[in-house]
Amino acid sequence: MHEVRFNPLINQWIIVAKHRAVRPWRPEEKQTSFQCPFCPGAPELKHLDKWDVVVLPNKYPALIPNPPSVEQEEFSLYTKREARGIAEVVVETPSHEGDLYTLSLDHAVRVVEAYRSEVLKLSSLDFIEYVAVFRNKGKEIGVSLTHPHSQIYALPFIPPRIKQEIESFREYREKTGSCLLCDIVKYELNYKKRLIYSNDEFIVLIPHYAMWPYEVHVYPLKHIKSLRDFNEREIRALADALRVVTAMYTVLLERDAPYIMAFHDHPAKGSYEYHFHVEFYQPYRDKEKLKYAAGIEWGYWVFTYDGVPEERAVELREACRKTVSLLDDVMGRCFE
Ligand code: ZN
Ligand code: ZN
Ligand code: FE
Repeated sequence: MHEVRFNPLINQWIIVAKHRAVRPWRPEEKQTSFQCPFCPGAPELKHLDKWDVVVLPNKYPALIPNPPSVEQEEFSLYTKREARGIAEVVVETPSHEGDLYTLSLDHAVRVVEAYRSEVLKLSSLDFIEYVAVFRNKGKEIGVSLTHPHSQIYALPFIPPRIKQEIESFREYREKTGSCLLCDIVKYELNYKKRLIYSNDEFIVLIPHYAMWPYEVHVYPLKHIKSLRDFNEREIRALADALRVVTAMYTVLLERDAPYIMAFHDHPAKGSYEYHFHVEFYQPYRDKEKLKYAAGIEWGYWVFTYDGVPEERAVELREACRKTVSLLDDVMGRCFE
């Protein structure tokens, strides 16, 4: 079964994928029978001679290009559709351990290039409305395979969070004539207290409106709508920013840190008011304690921020300075 069901109470699609329930949960790696599907020599990769970044179809896809047709229920309020889409995995390195920051800058650039070419390819398919590029890391987040990888979901609808952002960008443009994120970038560069890091093309900051204690956003300095419009310089600078943020989390927690990385890109079709950016959510509120999304967050979508973003930014800047002294090939600088 591959279908999307519409929740008329909150105007959202839910992807229903029966076979995903059987996917393995963190297979015991010490067992001799365990073979990592992303390590060299795995059946999925046998056909490749030499590789450093490879895009594979997701073995347990939430969406497939040719799902069986869906039968509607009698009740007219209950809408469903085929979950027609594509789910892919970007295996970032042949090495079984690591993160974006353990890759060289050149290698991380090839990862971002792979994201870009997949977004270009998948956006052009007639049944795709949105291409989501994201990366989950750590058992706290529920990652079932530890081999460094990110994921791409090409969806038959625009995700609600992106819809909401587009609406805000549109309203702001109508009211002021400017881009919402361009104005935020301008303000933050001047205000400085929430800035963490910058290179020639991006700033890294804790947003004024952070929901997670160490939430970090990566904003292009220039007005760019989509990853599809990035030039070589911008791809390189984004790879640099992603390495710094992922390393900084590990320096901050003093251990391999879990996080969620989500690219917020322009939809595949049409032309909307938008400004590309990347958001990172990190589940800890200090070195030991997890911040859970619970009653008020899940039940109401109301977030409580533990602490003050401006104070957390001081901590992150300190971690940033340690980070850049440890990493090779850093392109930018941490703010003082
Ligand atoms: Zn592996
Ligand atoms: Zn802009
Ligand atoms: Fe966003």
